[in-house]
Amino acid sequence: MRGTVDGLVLRETETGESDKLLTVLTAEHGKILICAKGVRSMRSKNMSLCRLFTYGNFEYYEKNGMRWLAGGSVNDSFFKLNSDIEGFALAAYILEIAAEITGEGVEAEEILRMTLNTLYAIENKLKPFEIIKGAYELFAANCSGFEPDVSGCCRCGEVYADTMYLDVMNGSLVCQECRSAGSGAQLMPELDAFSARNILFPMNRSVLASVRYVLGARRERIFAFELKDEKDISDFSRLGDTYLLNHLERGFDTLDFYKTVRNK
Ligand SMILES: [Zn+2]
Repeated sequence: MRGTVDGLVLRETETGESDKLLTVLTAEHGKILICAKGVRSMRSKNMSLCRLFTYGNFEYYEKNGMRWLAGGSVNDSFFKLNSDIEGFALAAYILEIAAEITGEGVEAEEILRMTLNTLYAIENKLKPFEIIKGAYELFAANCSGFEPDVSGCCRCGEVYADTMYLDVMNGSLVCQECRSAGSGAQLMPELDAFSARNILFPMNRSVLASVRYVLGARRERIFAFELKDEKDISDFSRLGDTYLLNHLERGFDTLDFYKTVRNK
C-alpha cells in the first residue's frame, strides 16, 4: 500500500550502510516511523528530505508492517538553524519535547502546527530564545493535560501579589501570606530542577502575567507578550523547564546542551 503524508522530522537514526530511520511528526497519525533506504549516499535525491528539522511531504509504501520512503519533497528545511548553535540547540530540544508529548497513531495537528511556528520563531529570532522556550514548555504542559492553575492562590483566592509562588508538583499558586502561614513546601532551591521535589517557584507580577498570558492565548499568538527585564526572562524560562521536567519526570540531553551553549 502506498501513501503520502506531510510531516516534520523529529529524529533521525543512522542504520545500515547508508540508511536512516526517521521519526516523523504528522497531523493525522502523530509520530510515525519511516525507513529511508540509501539516503545517506551522496547520490540520493531524498537526502535533504531526511534531515532533522525538515518539514516535507513524504511518499511511502508499506511492507512488512513498516513504512518505506519512496520519495517526496521539502516544504521547509529551517536551514538557518544550522548556522546558529544556540538556536540549533533550542530547536533540537523543542523537537525532543514534541516527540515526548505525542504518540503513535494519535492525531497531533495542534502540536505539529505549534512546533513548526516555534522553529520558525527560533530560526528568525522573532523573540528572545528564553521566551520562546518557556512558552513552548508551558504549551507542552497544557496540551499534555497537566497545566498549572494560575488563576489565584489555591488557599485564599488572592489573584495579584508582588510575589506569588508556583507550587510545581501540585500545579497551583500560593500567595506570600499563605506561604508564610506554613505550607511545608520548600522554596525553589539552587539545584538541578529535576532533583528537587516539593518546589515553590517564586514569580513577580510580570512573570506571573506572562505565564497567564501563554496559558490563555490563542496558539498563534503565544509569543506575543513582552518581558523586558533580563531576570524576568530568565525566571520565565527556568519556570518552564522546572515545571515541564518535573511533570514528565525526565530530563533532556538537548536541554543540557542548550544551557551549555547559552552560558558560553
Ligand atoms: Zn493565599
